[in-house]
Amino acid sequence: MEVGARTHVGKVRPTNEDGYLIRDGLLAVADGMGGHRAGEVASGTALAVLREYPFGSGDPAAQLEAAVQAAHARVRELAGADPSLSGMGTTLTAALVAEGRVVVAHVGDSRLYLWREGELRQITADHSMAAELLRAGQIDEAAARSHPHRHMLTRAVGALEELRVDLSEFPLETGDGLLLCTDGLSSLVDEDDMLRVLREQPTAQAAADALVELALARGGTDNVTVVVARPA
Ligand code: MG
Repeated sequence: MEVGARTHVGKVRPTNEDGYLIRDGLLAVADGMGGHRAGEVASGTALAVLREYPFGSGDPAAQLEAAVQAAHARVRELAGADPSLSGMGTTLTAALVAEGRVVVAHVGDSRLYLWREGELRQITADHSMAAELLRAGQIDEAAARSHPHRHMLTRAVGALEELRVDLSEFPLETGDGLLLCTDGLSSLVDEDDMLRVLREQPTAQAAADALVELALARGGTDNVTVVVARPA
């Protein structure tokens, strides 16, 4: 697959606490949170653990979950050792392409979309207060979009001692594309617009750039990060 990516601080925040990773077969985005530079440390640490994780020949899903748990342990270890990092955490959405399958590990409200046969399907479920209430049928979509706690996470790497990681997988079919993004994109650009950009742009990098530009044009209220993989 052909891969492109871009991360941008946006137009409002002072620092970029988002990050991404592209490592052969492994794509990931992370959106950190915490005071001062803690969010940046959290997302950077989690992605660094994934970058260096010794993936071997065993079950890809088990290895990807182990890598995310290692990232969680490392973020907690750093937070415990430095009061200025206390309470930091990060989202982490990772897709491992192996043996004709895509294995997904996910924590938080960053997203993975599958671009297949002209349609875009969200693979991950947001771990946010508003999304949990929506899934429970307690609020509708309009209420979820304007919910005061829509950005409050119910799970994050580095947060609670025990981390539950959503794992899923699907077969990669000829022509499939993948889009990973942080909420700085998905809160400003809806799926129809994402799809339009993917169709219009000739390369993965051009698509990643155009998606970030669209989020910036709509206010760039948050850090924004996009990774696009499409058939070469
Ligand atoms: Mg964000």
